[in-house]
Amino acid sequence: MADPRVPTVQIVAIGTELVLGRIQDTNSFWLSQQLTDLGAEVRRITVLPDILEEVIPALQGAADDGVDFVVVTGGLGPTPDDLTVEALARLLGEGTYEDRSLLEDYMRRRQIDEDELSPGLRKMATVPESAVVWASPAGWAPCIQIKRLETTFFVLPGPPREMEALFDRYVATAISESLEIKSAARRVFVNMSESECSPLIEEAMERFPGLYAKGYVALRSDTHMPVDFVARAASDREARRMLSDAIDLFSAGVKGLGKDIHY
Ligand code: ATP
Ligand code: MG
Repeated sequence: MADPRVPTVQIVAIGTELVLGRIQDTNSFWLSQQLTDLGAEVRRITVLPDILEEVIPALQGAADDGVDFVVVTGGLGPTPDDLTVEALARLLGEGTYEDRSLLEDYMRRRQIDEDELSPGLRKMATVPESAVVWASPAGWAPCIQIKRLETTFFVLPGPPREMEALFDRYVATAISESLEIKSAARRVFVNMSESECSPLIEEAMERFPGLYAKGYVALRSDTHMPVDFVARAASDREARRMLSDAIDLFSAGVKGLGKDIHY
């Protein structure tokens, strides 16, 4: 059972190139690490093509599930295949408008007049009527924030550098502020088989509610298997304390079986 104080998150990566296997969805991988480090609980990662009939129900589904936040990446660019804004507007049952502060930001940064704004830039400044918009420090497409039912959506551009800059500047702060829970994580290495190791992992998780631990058989080398520990608690101090106590317990179990643990 999830702790009700932990904010829940879904990640939605949008881009036909992703489902075609042309580009690897590294955005979701990076976001899931950041969100977990912040102390949020990622419940689902969805990868979708740029197709309205796929995107709208997926976003509505996340709101129906009642997650606290949805982080969406991709499809905010200037080209006709970028239709995330249209999906958001239809989801909200709203029209769109050109955000004045973004247009002014573009004119200032490009040193151009309003009549020189390209259709592409105008498209990237076009957002749903009820959206809150955050200008990018790293590109042109903004971070768009909307609310549907109880769920807050942060919509970020697809290029990883732009996505990361906007996440760090706006999304991480908003999620941290909603948090009553902090987390701490550490990876250790043991020269054990999965069957030797898993009773010790289970013991640690039973002993420390709020602890998640997992051994990665697929990542083992000839000699060592990585084991991750993620502790969640009401404060950084408690999370770090739980992490260190859990690793001490695990380590004692490993050594009790005559095996080695490395940090
Ligand atoms: P723009 O079109 O302005 O670049 P955008 O928000 O529309 O921005 P996309 O067109 O969807 O973004 O993607 C732009 C580039 O970003 C893609 O070519 C791809 O290389 C990269 N990209 C998109 N989504 C992802 C993802 N989930 N993981 C890694 N890279 C991605
Ligand atoms: Mg795209």
